[in-house]
Amino acid sequence: MYQHLNWYTRCHKSMASSINEEDLCIICYSNKNNVTLRPCKHQCCKLCINHHVLYSRVCFYCKGRIESVVDANNSSIVIHDFGTEPPPLL
Ligand SMILES: [Zn+2]
Ligand SMILES: [Zn+2]
Repeated sequence: MYQHLNWYTRCHKSMASSINEEDLCIICYSNKNNVTLRPCKHQCCKLCINHHVLYSRVCFYCKGRIESVVDANNSSIVIHDFGTEPPPLL
């Protein structure tokens, strides 16, 4: 008696992926998170934050104020520091 195990197995193929989605920027989903926002410690990619801070200094995750943006791998590399800059005129 035949059971259609082949069909069943195909439909339950492993979804294993080499890309860890938690490392991807939630804004563009194409670059890895490589900057950390301070003080809330949320992460995104450098391209997106560079674009975002032109218009807003509010974190897109938690709506908290972004005081600085640092490199995710080396927090001594400061990419933006708004503590010493005047706020944008909006
Ligand atoms: Zn991005
Ligand atoms: Zn945040």
